Amino acid sequence: MLCRCLAKHSWPRGKKGRKYIGYVKPFGYPDTAAVCGSCDNPAVVWLDEMEVELYEQGNRIFNGPTQFVSIKVDNDGIMKM
Ligand SMILES: [Zn+2]
Repeated sequence: MLCRCLAKHSWPRGKKGRKYIGYVKPFGYPDTAAVCGSCDNPAVVWLDEMEVELYEQGNRIFNGPTQFVSIKVDNDGIMKM
């Protein structure tokens, strides 16, 4: 997963061929502690294919790449391109 805002940094490209195919909103969005990694806007959580599957199975907590932080997302569903 990757935290990027919708305003300026939507549909981010992942490193190492990682492809983000949809996004979910962090709990409380847009009044959220999750902030874009590239600017100061509130972020949504971008999910790759495997993470989308986890979301569909009911998982609502996603780990960042370094496990420095995990983000809890809401139940509003996945927005896909
Ligand atoms: Zn941004």
